[in-house]
Amino acid sequence: ALTLPAAVYMLQEKEAHAAEFERTFIAIKPDGVQRGLIAEIISRFERKGYKLVAIKLVIPTNDFAQKHYHDLKERPFFSGLCDFLSSGPVLAMVWEGEGVIKYGRKLIGATDPQKSEPGTIRGDLAVVVGRNIIHGSDGPETAEEEISLWFSPNELISYSSNAEKWIYG
Ligand code: ADP
Repeated sequence: ALTLPAAVYMLQEKEAHAAEFERTFIAIKPDGVQRGLIAEIISRFERKGYKLVAIKLVIPTNDFAQKHYHDLKERPFFSGLCDFLSSGPVLAMVWEGEGVIKYGRKLIGATDPQKSEPGTIRGDLAVVVGRNIIHGSDGPETAEEEISLWFSPNELISYSSNAEKWIYG
């Protein structure tokens, strides 16, 4: 049989791994930014072992906020929510890693901070539902949709980190 150099095997392994990774859209809302919680929140995703692949600080327009929350347009809190999201800087990010969409939601905690478990971002750092400091995509379709709403393809950075072999084995 044909034997491939070790480096080729390693590359194939890395690519196979990379193909399993999924991406999610995470945003620190204006309340989280104003309260100085950026580093605290990023640190929780980073320490878990997820990889930051896009990040920018933006003040969304009200129209843009409405697009982001289009699924909620029938809800009574929709206009207040869009006013709030567009009221100041939002830190928009894309995080990558195995199971990051679902587990990212676990790190974030329940929508209403009164119901979020201690240890979660909202549980530890927020009090009311209208000021729950962070957004995270709720599934693969919304993740894709939200990533492409907030970022252009050239803002998404693909890279491998040396820590990956220690995180994934
Ligand atoms: P999540 O952000 O956990 O995915 P939803 O998609 O249901 O939750 O709601 C989006 C956002 O709308 C919430 O994060 C919260 O900021 C706001 N929101 C949800 N329910 C209410 C409510 N009853 N009153 C005010 N704001 C709300």
